[in-house]
Amino acid sequence: MTSHTIKQQFSIITATVTSIVVGVVLVVAIAIIHFDVTKQAERTALVAGAVVAANIIESTDEISKKTSQRLLDSLAADDDIVWAEVQYDRRILAVLERANAEFFKPSATESLEHKVKNSAYTRSIETPIIDKGERVGKVLIWLNLWPYYMQIFTAVALSVIALLLGGAGAYWFSGELHERVIQPLRQLSRLMVRVSSAEDYAARFNYFEENEIGALGRSFNQMLSQIQDHENNLKKVIRELEHARDAAEDAARSKSSFLANMSHEIRTPMNGVVGMTSLLKRTELTKQQRLYFDTIEKSASSLLMIIDDILDFTKIEAGRLEMRSEPFSLVDNLNSIRAFFESPTKNKGIEFQVTYPPSIPQNIQGDSGRLRQILLNLIGNAVKFTEKGRVELAVTVTGPRGSQFIHFAVSDTGIGISESSQNKIFSEFFQADDTATRQFGGTGLGLAICKQLVSLMGGTIGFESQEGLGSTFWFEIPVREVEVEKSSGAVRRPTKGIANPFARAIASNKDRQE
Ligand code: ADP
Repeated sequence: MTSHTIKQQFSIITATVTSIVVGVVLVVAIAIIHFDVTKQAERTALVAGAVVAANIIESTDEISKKTSQRLLDSLAADDDIVWAEVQYDRRILAVLERANAEFFKPSATESLEHKVKNSAYTRSIETPIIDKGERVGKVLIWLNLWPYYMQIFTAVALSVIALLLGGAGAYWFSGELHERVIQPLRQLSRLMVRVSSAEDYAARFNYFEENEIGALGRSFNQMLSQIQDHENNLKKVIRELEHARDAAEDAARSKSSFLANMSHEIRTPMNGVVGMTSLLKRTELTKQQRLYFDTIEKSASSLLMIIDDILDFTKIEAGRLEMRSEPFSLVDNLNSIRAFFESPTKNKGIEFQVTYPPSIPQNIQGDSGRLRQILLNLIGNAVKFTEKGRVELAVTVTGPRGSQFIHFAVSDTGIGISESSQNKIFSEFFQADDTATRQFGGTGLGLAICKQLVSLMGGTIGFESQEGLGSTFWFEIPVREVEVEKSSGAVRRPTKGIANPFARAIASNKDRQE
């Protein structure tokens, strides 16, 4: 199916409707004219025939040839009559013959009479001759209808021309109308596409005529102005927000670097304080002085622990904390943790247990110092927040061989965590209960650091807790088992220090627990 543009459809419809209307009007007019003109001619012939017939009877009682001929000759004045004859008693008394058209010229093969009487362009009108109530003969008149047909033909030709001109005019007129109506609408639709695709809200519809399309264009332009204003405001707000964000990021960077530098700077003199204190403790002291030294040592160690936490935290935030990947004995680590918490839990009167299945990988690859840091933190918290009952570290292995995970779960029967605090527990500087915090101390950084460390190890961390009943903190990390050197039975270790992180963690945590 061929598709036409709106302009073409509009023009075709207008031209067709106009042609049909003009055509119908012309056909009706021609039919009326044709009917009227031929009737008129017939009436004239009838009247002429009647006059001849009446005169024939009135002029003499006896119808003579001469009278008939004279009467017929009087019809010669009418150009439309091409043949007339008077028949009386089945005889032809008189004939009027006149050849006034091309068709009615006698030829060698055809007489005038034959031509006239058999022509399609003639019509015969018959008037009876009545004498004393009796039909005694008839007057026959042949009318030449050719001039009428010519008139009708001319009228038809003119009508066709008028029809064609009317159709063409209507087609042109509708095209003009299209230019004035459809064209601006098309421009508007193109503009809409441009605005939506290029987001060019500065574009405007330039049509200034006072009509419906003009009103539509003005509304559209108004809408674009409003969008442009909003867009500009939005861009301004975004720019301001970006500046604020940059400033905040700069401030955060400065804060982190200040914290890292300060922690580092404080750590060095603090180590001096701790070292000198332990040396001084070895000299001869009174009981009172020893007590003072114990307090100095404890305070210095807690301060070191806080500084270590802050250092770790700033390193993680700055993305500068790197995990080691070294082989180490998992079982040794678990046993040392058991030994580490033995006395603090005993002193507190709570039970402490470390359990793991015999199938557990003996030696694994990873950062043993950071793993230990996580466990010390979780178990340290469990012991800190448990007054009676038990604390347990349960280690299990999950997943198929080759893609195994080690699952560590630290459960306690302590104070638990309220539901309102549970979703904030891993946020930095968060401490659930102010009373407990005052009682037990801490920075609120431990769990945040644990979460980051577990994530750096490629693992996940979580917890379940019920206020008043206890908590279970768990984490699981992917594990890669390593071979033990056959000759020595020792785990293959790199030459550079791995022991240090344990020592540091144990030392700081020991102080923490005391
Ligand atoms: P810190 O212990 O130094 O305050 P953490 O990040 O380790 O910081 O812990 C944050 C808070 O989470 C603690 O202050 C405590 O309120 C809560 N919490 C952590 N572990 C436990 C636990 N086992 N039982 C009850 N509350 C806990």
